[in-house]
Amino acid sequence: MVLLDGKYTSAAIKEGIAAKVREMKEAGKPVPHLVAVLVGNDGASMTYVANKEAACAQVGFKSTVLRFPDTISEEQLLAEVDKLNKDASVDGFIVQLPLPKHISEKKVIAAISPDKDVDGFHIINVGKLTQSLPTFVSATPKGILSLLDQYNVETAGKHCVVIGRSNIVGRPISILLNQKGYDCTVTVCHSRSKNIEVFTRMADIIIAAVGIPEFVTGDMVKEGAIVVDVGITRVPDDTKPKGYRIVGDVKFDEVAPKCSYITPVPGGVGPMTIVSLLQNTLQAAEARM
Ligand code: NAP
Repeated sequence: MVLLDGKYTSAAIKEGIAAKVREMKEAGKPVPHLVAVLVGNDGASMTYVANKEAACAQVGFKSTVLRFPDTISEEQLLAEVDKLNKDASVDGFIVQLPLPKHISEKKVIAAISPDKDVDGFHIINVGKLTQSLPTFVSATPKGILSLLDQYNVETAGKHCVVIGRSNIVGRPISILLNQKGYDCTVTVCHSRSKNIEVFTRMADIIIAAVGIPEFVTGDMVKEGAIVVDVGITRVPDDTKPKGYRIVGDVKFDEVAPKCSYITPVPGGVGPMTIVSLLQNTLQAAEARM
C-alpha cells in the first residue's frame, strides 16, 4: 500500500509556485494577490481561510481577508463582490462557503467575475470544465488529479466510483475523470443510491466525498483499489487540545491494508486543495500580464 501524501506533494508544488513569484518580483511585476471573503464566525471556515492565508505567505503571494459579520445583507455582500471584480490589484478572490441562510450562495457566486473566480464555481467556468476547455478547475478536484498524477496512478480504462455529487467535489471530479486524458468509466453514487457497496466493490478507484465519518468500510473495497478520501468532519474528542479530531469518509484502518494507494486524513486531499487554489491564483495573475 502506498500513501498518497498530499503534504509532501503540495510542498513540492508550492516550491515551484514560490520560484515563479520570485521571477515575477525580479521582473518588477506585482505578485499574485488573493482575497478571501469570510462572512460570520464558523469555526471550520475560519480555519480554512487561515490556512489559505498561511499558504499565500509561504509562496510570496499577497493575501487579504475581508471579514464581515453574519448580519451583512445579500445586497451589501454583492456590492463587496462588485468592488473586488473592479479592483485591478486583485487577481482572484474566493467567497468562503457556507454563507448565512439569508444570502443566496448561487447569486453571490454568479456575481463573481469568471476571470477572478479562482474557486472555479462560476457557471461559466463550470461549463468550460464540462467541455474540457481551459478554465479554473475547482480546487479539490484539481488537487485530487494532481495527487494521482504525481504518483503516476494510471486511470485509463479504470472503473471509478465517486460517492457524492456536490457542485464543489463529487460532480466536477466525476466529469474530469471521465474526460479524455483520464478516461475512467465513472459511476456516481449519492444519498438516494441503493446498495452502494455493490458499486464500490467493483471499483478500481473510489473517491469518497460524502461528509460522513468512516462511511467506506473494509468490506466495501476490493483488493488493490485506489482510495481517495475527501471527507473532513470534526468529531468531538476530549483527548485533543482543540476538543475535536478530523475524521475522513474512509475507515482507514480497515481499508488501507486492501489498497494499492490511499490518501490519509489529514495530509491527503486537504493540502492539495489549498495548493490548487494557489495554482489558480497564479494562473489568474499570469493571464492579467
Ligand atoms: P456535500 O455538499 O454535503 O455533499 C455530500 C454528498 O454526499 C451529496 O452528494 C450527498 O448526496 C452524498 N451523500 C450524503 N449521504 C450519503 C449517503 N448516505 N450515501 C451516499 N451518498 C451520500 O459535501 P461536499 O461539499 O461535497 O463535501 C464532502 C466532504 O468533503 C465533507 O466532509 C467536506 O468537509 C469535505 N471536503 C473536503 C475538502 C478538502 O479539501 N479535503 C474540500 C471540500 C470538501 P445528495 O446529493 O443526494 O444529497
